[in-house]
Amino acid sequence: MTTFLGMPLAPPGVGHLRGTEPFPVAARRALGDSQLRRNLRKATTTIRAKRAAAVGELPDWERLRDAAQAIKAETMAHLDSYLEQLEARVTERGGVVHWARDAAEANRIVAGLVQATGSTEVVKVKSMVTDEIGLNDALAADGITAYETDLAELIIQLGEDRPSHILVPAIHRNRAEIREIFLREMGDVDPALTDDPPALAEAARLYLRRKFLAARVGVSGANFGIAQTGTLCVVESEGNGRMCLTLPETLITVMGIEKLLPSWNDLEVFLQLLPRSSTGERMNPYTSMWTGVTPGDGPQQFHLLLLDNGRTAALADQVGRAALHCIRCSACLNVCPVYERAGGHAYGSVYPGPIGAVLSPQLTGVQDNATLPYASSLCGACYDVCPVKIDTPSILVHLRARHVEEERQQRRLPSGEAITMAAASWVMADSRRWQAAQRAASQAGRVLGRGGRIRRLPPPLSAWTAARDAPVPAPVTFRQWWHQEHGDQPRHRNQAGRGDQA
Ligand code: SF4
Repeated sequence: MTTFLGMPLAPPGVGHLRGTEPFPVAARRALGDSQLRRNLRKATTTIRAKRAAAVGELPDWERLRDAAQAIKAETMAHLDSYLEQLEARVTERGGVVHWARDAAEANRIVAGLVQATGSTEVVKVKSMVTDEIGLNDALAADGITAYETDLAELIIQLGEDRPSHILVPAIHRNRAEIREIFLREMGDVDPALTDDPPALAEAARLYLRRKFLAARVGVSGANFGIAQTGTLCVVESEGNGRMCLTLPETLITVMGIEKLLPSWNDLEVFLQLLPRSSTGERMNPYTSMWTGVTPGDGPQQFHLLLLDNGRTAALADQVGRAALHCIRCSACLNVCPVYERAGGHAYGSVYPGPIGAVLSPQLTGVQDNATLPYASSLCGACYDVCPVKIDTPSILVHLRARHVEEERQQRRLPSGEAITMAAASWVMADSRRWQAAQRAASQAGRVLGRGGRIRRLPPPLSAWTAARDAPVPAPVTFRQWWHQEHGDQPRHRNQAGRGDQA
């Protein structure tokens, strides 16, 4: 397939969407960092409690989730026409719309726009999509310095670190570590700076104010774009976004094509769901909206860059496309037992946690990010909290199936797993073979087991015991026990309700 809904399919996405090592390797290393685990547990526990309280206040929460799911499904079904509508409205209001197929093209366009202003500095609003395309590094390569102005993003940038959470990028850092970074990197910061949060915030405020007042170009992402009016919307908590969106002469907004909403009225649903799901607040402290250019008010040059970077490929997958409904609230990260223990860096993508495990592989191509769909226990907690009702566990299973199928097509010989499954199927298809296998397993368990557990099995079963032990099979099988107790074989019922001997 080369087109979908009339749009050419983009090549697999590029940018900061995959790590340099598989998830299990990175996760194993992260699990050995006890400070990281303490920081993560404290932060996720706090955010989870706040979210639960805020969500509990709304009696129509489930109806809001249903509405959001329906709006997003409708948007994705007609994405091509909504995008054209958005482009027309933005252009009518004095904005310029650009289209980018991938990260490299997007970075080239943004760098060119900044260079055209003659500026060598930009101030940035926190934006996942610019992290995704690696915009800061690309601008730096062209001699342009990007200053992050969100407090957590600033900590990450000054610490030459990587974000590990969608909403709280520095969740893996504690106060003492942040103080050290500020003292080391901010230059003229007071040496008596303490790790008291208000003191750290004041230091950041003083540092950033100079950047805001000097900047001629602002760069932002967008939480929502309204096709009906051409309006863009950014929500944030610190007011830094409002500064970046209003003070510079030129504003460049990078938006993934999936961030669209059809009409202004749809915002009503999402502006209730997003703050309660993300920060546990009733509403966002700052909600900024703008439509094109307003003479004499705010930036007089506005560029909107619409980014694909693998999104049309995801849209073509009838199951996987629901990942494009995500509004990046991060509620699924905060409830995920895997994320809470491994942290965000282990995912290797700017989108960690459950949403990263379903979105990143679709943007890059499943084969290029094959360990992420397996980075889940499939407990379903992510689905329960998702404000747009993304059935993440089902998408994970679907992507695993896609991965297995793609692997199968590439191999000439069947994999060890396929051989094992075929053998298991053959054994289980016949009751005598199955009973013989149970007897053999029981005897082997007595030889290999210590203290009721088997800690090491021979290949290929060693793949299981490499990361966990296995219980010793019971000395008596269920059938033998039944026979001893009842003197008869257990029976099961077939679909016609007849009792058959198993
Ligand atoms: S998948 Fe749902 S819960 Fe997770 S970040 Fe996206 S919208 Fe939030």
